[in-house]
Amino acid sequence: MKTVFEKIIDRELPADVVAEGDRWIAFRDIHPAAPAHVLVVPKKPIARLAAATSAEQGVLGELLLAAAEVARREGLGESGFRIVINNGPDGGETVPHLHVHVLGGRAMNWPPG
Ligand code: AMP
Repeated sequence: MKTVFEKIIDRELPADVVAEGDRWIAFRDIHPAAPAHVLVVPKKPIARLAAATSAEQGVLGELLLAAAEVARREGLGESGFRIVINNGPDGGETVPHLHVHVLGGRAMNWPPG
């Protein structure tokens, strides 16, 4: 069964897409946790970071570069931003399709709750 992100990638569900490459797509989180909250998602359905293999090294690198570019486009280049990848139940993962959260527009706390 397709995840919600696969349905967005396949254009079966609407999303506010802010950028896209051959191997990834970036769209606004439907429940933003910050004034700017974008998800960068590989088009290949890798379940989570821990499920990635060395075969995915290239796309993993692209996701981080895309996240930085999205942050710049969101106007966060100077103020800063946070990148989050939730992995598994204790990590707070709710959608089993790897995604990089790009959060910004407010100061972030450390350590995270
Ligand atoms: P995570 O908890 O790390 O798995 O993050 C999943 C994220 O996906 C959450 O922040 C959700 O708000 C977001 N989300 C779920 N469904 C959608 C959707 N249809 N469009 C955009 N974001 C979504």
